[in-house]
Amino acid sequence: MKIAILSRNSKLYSTARLVEAAEARGHEVRVLDVLRCYMNITSHNPSIHYRGEDLTGFDAVIPRIGASVTFYGTAVLRQFEMMNVFPLNESVAISRSRDKLRSIQLLARKGIGLPVTGFANNPDDIEDLISQVGGAPLVIKLLEGTQGIGVVLAETHNAAESVIQAFMGLKANIMVQEFIKEAEGSDIRCFVVGDKVVAAMRRQSAAGEFRSNLHRGGTASLVRLTPEERSTAVRAAKIMGLNVCGVDMLRSNHGPVIMEVNSSPGLRGIEQTSGKDIADLIIQFIEKRIETLATVKDKSSFHPSRTRTRGKG
Ligand code: ADP
Repeated sequence: MKIAILSRNSKLYSTARLVEAAEARGHEVRVLDVLRCYMNITSHNPSIHYRGEDLTGFDAVIPRIGASVTFYGTAVLRQFEMMNVFPLNESVAISRSRDKLRSIQLLARKGIGLPVTGFANNPDDIEDLISQVGGAPLVIKLLEGTQGIGVVLAETHNAAESVIQAFMGLKANIMVQEFIKEAEGSDIRCFVVGDKVVAAMRRQSAAGEFRSNLHRGGTASLVRLTPEERSTAVRAAKIMGLNVCGVDMLRSNHGPVIMEVNSSPGLRGIEQTSGKDIADLIIQFIEKRIETLATVKDKSSFHPSRTRTRGKG
């Protein structure tokens, strides 16, 4: 197969591991800086150019699109989709997952456990919003924050009120969430490939910090998932339409609650913690999908009269 990896930097751990795994399985791989791809959008012959070269012949594309380039990155990925290149995750699913509010609305609709969450626009509604999520302490989140930036724990009612007012004053979109105290500063990252959780880790926040992101000084360890946690992660991935993702959840008193589904989950933490070759599992998943797609295509082009003609010749 010929595989494209959309990534800003081929030296990033996850990108380098995917290249290594694909080459080890005998595939041709190219890392493309998504911001250097440009496209010709026509219905008959859509194309992508890269530093003057016409990109052709790819079977699959692995998007590793950072949050800051979501708009342009998903546009390029859509163009690959128009050219019938199999995307590991579809552009529409990535856009969906980048908006935390949209994601949890979709998950809520399908009955997935979530922290009680509120969303409002007008400062006059703050009081009611706070009481809806059960009062302080509560968590305030910027809709498009990542790596724990823009996630604030307001310990008192007054703090909650002033932080929400400040964000609203800045016209930032925020949601207000029940604080899952019993998680004790730890969360669980489930790494989903296809319809399986292939690895999981527990991330514990640094002392004095409630956010367990590894970027915020959290530490990772192996965790044994309950069957409920496992099936919640797989269902969440399916609802979001993502083939490969990191599903982040908290252990609450009322079972697992999902915080986020990440469409470009990093490989370093999960590979080092689990000791598994996740990059290889991702490439294997692509191989199987391409094979299935080829079989379906073969069957749909099957035509009895054509077979008969061929038989005569
Ligand atoms: P980001 O996408 O920026 O990582 P998250 O929503 O995943 O933002 O939150 C960052 C961290 O903050 C989580 O990993 C978790 O440890 C903590 N956290 C987030 N929401 C809650 C909550 N409702 N209750 C308790 N802890 C939370």
